[in-house]
Amino acid sequence: MNRSTPPETLYAAPSALVQGRFIDDALIAVDDDGDIVSVGRGAAPPDAIRLKGVVVPGMPDLHSHAFQRAMAGLAETASPAGENFWSWRDVMYRFLGRLSPEDVQAIAAQLYVELLRQGFTAIAEFHYVHNDYSGGAYADPAEMSHRIVGAARTSGIGLTLLPVLYQASGFGGAPAMDGQKRFLKTTDDFIALVETLRRTYRDDPRIKIGVAPHSLRAVAPEALLDCVEAITVMDQDAPIHIHVAEQDREVKDCLAWSGERPVEWLLNHAPIDRRWCLVHSTQTTGDEIARLAKSGAVAGLCPSTEANLGDGVFPLSSYLKHRGRFGIGTDSNVGTCPADELRWLEYVQRLFAKQRNISEANDGAHTGAGLYRRALAGGAQACGRKIGEIAPGYRADLVVLDPEHPALIGRRHESMIDSWIFSGSETPVRDVMVGGNWVVKDRRHVAQDDVLKDYRRCIARLTND
Ligand SMILES: [Zn+2]
Repeated sequence: MNRSTPPETLYAAPSALVQGRFIDDALIAVDDDGDIVSVGRGAAPPDAIRLKGVVVPGMPDLHSHAFQRAMAGLAETASPAGENFWSWRDVMYRFLGRLSPEDVQAIAAQLYVELLRQGFTAIAEFHYVHNDYSGGAYADPAEMSHRIVGAARTSGIGLTLLPVLYQASGFGGAPAMDGQKRFLKTTDDFIALVETLRRTYRDDPRIKIGVAPHSLRAVAPEALLDCVEAITVMDQDAPIHIHVAEQDREVKDCLAWSGERPVEWLLNHAPIDRRWCLVHSTQTTGDEIARLAKSGAVAGLCPSTEANLGDGVFPLSSYLKHRGRFGIGTDSNVGTCPADELRWLEYVQRLFAKQRNISEANDGAHTGAGLYRRALAGGAQACGRKIGEIAPGYRADLVVLDPEHPALIGRRHESMIDSWIFSGSETPVRDVMVGGNWVVKDRRHVAQDDVLKDYRRCIARLTND
């Protein structure tokens, strides 16, 4: 061995999804830093570690509010007035009002373990709970952000941390409400937080820092543009995420404020490009969809949450005709599985269009495999990390699918992904590697017992309060 190169581990797989195509007899070399150094094919040499299934790149989850996982199911009661996104938000504000930093870390770690066991290997955490119960800063203003990093490190998931800028309760800078006091930061304090996080975690290849101006509802134009300029000076490739056009009322309020629709406003007034992820983009016109696709930004689609909240239907086929990029997010974390998110994405389109196989237009193209590839590429772009591909220079984020799982028996290549996504049964994910480390082995996460113990304690405390 050449002594100047770092030690490598060679993995052999019966088949692997490599740069968009399946190859058989795959050989994947991973260095001690957790990066893929070479990919080839051939008979496994004696020193290779043989993987027990088909290898695909781990899926990035491009949008999450981790703490909301612990309230899944707590907002599912009817009322005479009718329930909608805004009434759900009231329940969510009451729930988060009681969370300590320890609670946030315990819930996030439990969520991340669950995501990893289903095949998500990276997350973009849209993190907006910064302040203590009274709305004041913690002694360390980055306390809550460090808790998210702590949860990511315990679980081993790759993290794009997106501290959120939140300043207002409505378009044009309407004063924030009491329930929003834990989110608020001045623009200067926000930029200082981002600088601290970048400095603290700059040597960790598992972590990328970006920014998330929450929405046009929560951030007035001047602050939005200041935030974008500040992050561009720090890192011109840093991801910028924003919630946009999730609800009809949001569009109506934006029109009343500016005469423009939310996506239209962003395209007209902000430097939207490939760094951006426009989360939801549900309520959009044909013109907005064409322009969004052309911008190179990613549409952040969160199918299970959008269904849960009654948001509406993203115009996927029109967006794909314009070669728009998308990734998937678990958002409120009512779902934790990439296959579920992709199935929901396609099924909602089918119900709406009364047709099948909406997201692939070419004859014979595999819908599930096509969705998986596109979500890998869009998710990786939105996370701003070298992930989503099995190729030299990318992080070794690998998911091993069990070919003996009943849903996958007899399936090969693209058909295997189709069957994973459209079988809807227990996950066939067997083993998961993130950055060269095995975090799930034979369906068990290596820290799942300890993480669950902390989570139980957290829920007991919240229930007894
Ligand atoms: Zn969200």
